Amino acid sequence: MSALIAALAAPACRPTPARPPELAPATATATQPQRPTLAIDAARMLADIEHLASDRYRGRYSLSPELRESARWLADRYTAIGASALAEGGYEAPFPITVGVRERAPTRLAIARGRRASEISPSENAPVALSGSGTVRAAAVFVGYAARADEIAGVDGAPAIPGHDDLAGVDLRGKIAVLLLEAPGRPNLRDFFRRLQREQISFEAAIGGLKARADVAGITALHADLRGKLVALIEPFMPGAKLDDLWPLPADPLTLELDLSGLFGTLMREAAKIKGPRFDMQAGQLRGKLARLAEAGAVGAVVVRGPRSFVAADEREADAFEPIDRVRINKDDRAAFPVVQLKWKTADRSLRVRGQTISQLQAAIDRDLRPRSAPIDGQEIELRADLEAIDTPVPNVLATIRGGDLADQIVVLGAHYDHIGAEDEGQGGGDCNAATINGQRDTICNGADDNASGTAMVLEIARALIASGYKPRRTLIFTHFAGEELGLLGSKALVEDPPFELAKVTAMVNLDMVGRLGPKGLAIGGIHSSDDWMPLLDQLGANGMSVLYEGSVASRSDHANFYRQKIPVLFFFTGVHADYHRPGDHTDKINKVGLQTIGELVGELILTLADGHPIAYTEPTAGRGLSGGLPGSDPDTLIKRVRATAQTSP
Ligand SMILES: [Zn+2]
Repeated sequence: MSALIAALAAPACRPTPARPPELAPATATATQPQRPTLAIDAARMLADIEHLASDRYRGRYSLSPELRESARWLADRYTAIGASALAEGGYEAPFPITVGVRERAPTRLAIARGRRASEISPSENAPVALSGSGTVRAAAVFVGYAARADEIAGVDGAPAIPGHDDLAGVDLRGKIAVLLLEAPGRPNLRDFFRRLQREQISFEAAIGGLKARADVAGITALHADLRGKLVALIEPFMPGAKLDDLWPLPADPLTLELDLSGLFGTLMREAAKIKGPRFDMQAGQLRGKLARLAEAGAVGAVVVRGPRSFVAADEREADAFEPIDRVRINKDDRAAFPVVQLKWKTADRSLRVRGQTISQLQAAIDRDLRPRSAPIDGQEIELRADLEAIDTPVPNVLATIRGGDLADQIVVLGAHYDHIGAEDEGQGGGDCNAATINGQRDTICNGADDNASGTAMVLEIARALIASGYKPRRTLIFTHFAGEELGLLGSKALVEDPPFELAKVTAMVNLDMVGRLGPKGLAIGGIHSSDDWMPLLDQLGANGMSVLYEGSVASRSDHANFYRQKIPVLFFFTGVHADYHRPGDHTDKINKVGLQTIGELVGELILTLADGHPIAYTEPTAGRGLSGGLPGSDPDTLIKRVRATAQTSP
């Protein structure tokens, strides 16, 4: 789950058991037992969450051995509960994740003037991981950051905020683009954040002792020193910004904390005051730029990390290339043409645009945020790159209960079982940032709620179904996706190459973060994907919980890939919390009562679907369908809320 705030509201009281809805006309035979009430066991789910979220699995990063171990554990559980494997090879269905690329032949960059071509030394240029393969020689055009920012209309008489487009009016057809990495006026955000984190770690290492000794003078000095460093780090990227409010010393210095998200809040507020175009978070991403260059007809690209895009002087001097064999990329993002990075000093020595160097142009763009795109003076560029992807197999885990008279119709119940791993996970990292919890440094993002909770609930519903002796009419498939945190990779791979007929899938139900039912209640999203969902959910009731019924289909979890295949989907979610994607996402914060009530409700839903309840896909009308927001974030697609009738949250 890669986003933020789902606004859910309601207080609570006693639960009424979910009542089974009217069944579709079933051709029940003597052997078809009465529909059971599933014996959902929250204690068992909690035990499974405890197991999957234990430090042993180190946060189940998709490219880690621990994830493969947890896949084996899941397969053993399905064997034990008696669900069948789907794939010949057992319960695991591996799919490839690209963990880097390697050169099949040396990469080449040469600057040509007429017949003479001067080769750039291999130590001063290197392919980027998103490069395609090919050989090309063409005229070159400097396109700044190849960035774009939309114009923002002024409100209440305020002037409009101008847009920016480095490609506007530039003819790139059959040309090689020379572009700057990152976005105007800002460094690589990951490097910037890592640098802040390093400062935070050294702060936390120092502050503990000072507080213990109530050393106010020491704390004041520490604060002044670190604040000075932070201002020096930020100022070059926010010229003229008022940083007085940045991390002020509190009235009682003994309460001093360094909260990075608070710091970011101040920076975002100051950044919003700076005049000129607003570049969003994606503006600096290379894959977006390469897609735009390809659209504009470019046949190659040379990228340069300009001197102003570095956070630290030593990094600027080194101008190091990212190791392409350890960069996790999505294959679809690779360009169709060669993309080679050139060191900024070499670029300054060998390329001119109207007599100016690339560094001079970067400084000018950063100063007034106006494009400086123009042809490279009198030179052509030759590029050659020959790269292949390095893939590693990662297991989705699938199990099934074969259906009866409607076996040709499939109901999928799924949950991702991967998470973001531990700090410095390697391989481009899972983005887990360490934190101090109860005075202890915790470097593992255990993912009890995200998404050991959904994983345990899928397992428990399968177990309870089989234990009940009930024979479903439709075929049930239980899916545990890997690679969700890396971009919904497991579910994407599954719908693109399923070990079953995708056309037979009647509906998909996804559980992602169902372990922390709180005062805000449960969200059920995706309801607009079928007009049959709301009547069915009304029949099922809310099992005593407060529930938000959301029409839109959140694009940030695995059901989205099924929805893109025109399959009706539902998404169960108890909301984002302070421990989201942090080491504090531990089992002791899981709401056991919530596991029980949600498990029962989802169990009833799956039983009803298994029994043949009609669910037909509904084409989205305007404003409906996939949404980047979380359930409850858009009043236009929020269907309704029901209040709790029982005490279900702590
Ligand atoms: Zn998740």
